[in-house]
Amino acid sequence: MLKKGHQQWLRRDGQANGVAARSRTIARQKMGCVFMKSLPVHQMSLSEGLRRTPEFEKKGLAQFSVNVGVKCGHGCTYCSSGSLLRCHPAFKAAGESPFRHGYCIVDPDIPDKVARDAARRRSRGMVQLCTTVDAWCPGAQQYDLGRRCLEAILREPGWTVRILTKNAAVVRDFDLLEQHRDRVLLALSLTAPMGNEELARVIEPHVSPISERMAAMRQAHKLGLRVYGMLCPLLPGVAAGAEEIEELVAFVKDCGESAAPVVDSQPFEAAVARYLDQNNRGVALKDIKAGPTIEGQTATLTASLHHATMGGPAVTWTFRFEQDADGTWKAVSHK
Ligand code: SF4
Repeated sequence: MLKKGHQQWLRRDGQANGVAARSRTIARQKMGCVFMKSLPVHQMSLSEGLRRTPEFEKKGLAQFSVNVGVKCGHGCTYCSSGSLLRCHPAFKAAGESPFRHGYCIVDPDIPDKVARDAARRRSRGMVQLCTTVDAWCPGAQQYDLGRRCLEAILREPGWTVRILTKNAAVVRDFDLLEQHRDRVLLALSLTAPMGNEELARVIEPHVSPISERMAAMRQAHKLGLRVYGMLCPLLPGVAAGAEEIEELVAFVKDCGESAAPVVDSQPFEAAVARYLDQNNRGVALKDIKAGPTIEGQTATLTASLHHATMGGPAVTWTFRFEQDADGTWKAVSHK
């Protein structure tokens, strides 16, 4: 029986709006909880779609995060999210312990909230998808949350996305990643070398096998997607030996490391156009040669420019930008 005040966290209908049929495998449905194969999936409602993530910002990884729920269906035995989120009322509402595994709590409507926040926020940047749950875990797949959140973010200019998942189901969304290849970074977290795949299955019961994660990484690289390596956690007995780590690092390097941050160039191209127009320069942007590189509220971009109407020989300029309080980038000088 739900207590008053907890009911808001638990939806009763068990239905997802606009969910692609391909990802629906609901076997059984009860009040506020559906079962995906043998995995109970509870529904809840988060208030925010996009939120600031100071921890990831401090590490230079992302300024914002999207989480699709509070309990990941992958059920990794080492997962620390249960401890981090243990006081969240959704656990009590679902009648589950945050420390137990084998179930999932997601917000089927999170893509709508992400879309709302992505459009509303003036200050934009890199979004980590996700930090405390996996947007492609079995319960999230049921509502196509990974893809729908990605679409919601990428629909708005100025946002870039860093995907981190342990589920090879993300390959079904590579078509979307290909359309935005300059705005998305992808990693399938690797936690063991191939030789320890069976061992990894014990501690990560609902995660894609290592071989499938590696195959997804290779496929992403082949398609020209931007791939980065995430070797975490490297547990004793599973992947803590020097040889095991070297094997994983070599694999990631083969997939093509991508150290450069991904930045959407569109707002900067628009700022250059405004700058050239306001200063009657008579030239137009031809190609971007380097950047944009963002440092706090300033940025630089090097581009070749040619005559605005006749084309012809190009010159190379480096522009400097400043960000307004409303998040708009403005070109302020060039050399
Ligand atoms: S994939 Fe990540 S968030 Fe999900 S259970 Fe495993 S460690 Fe936790």
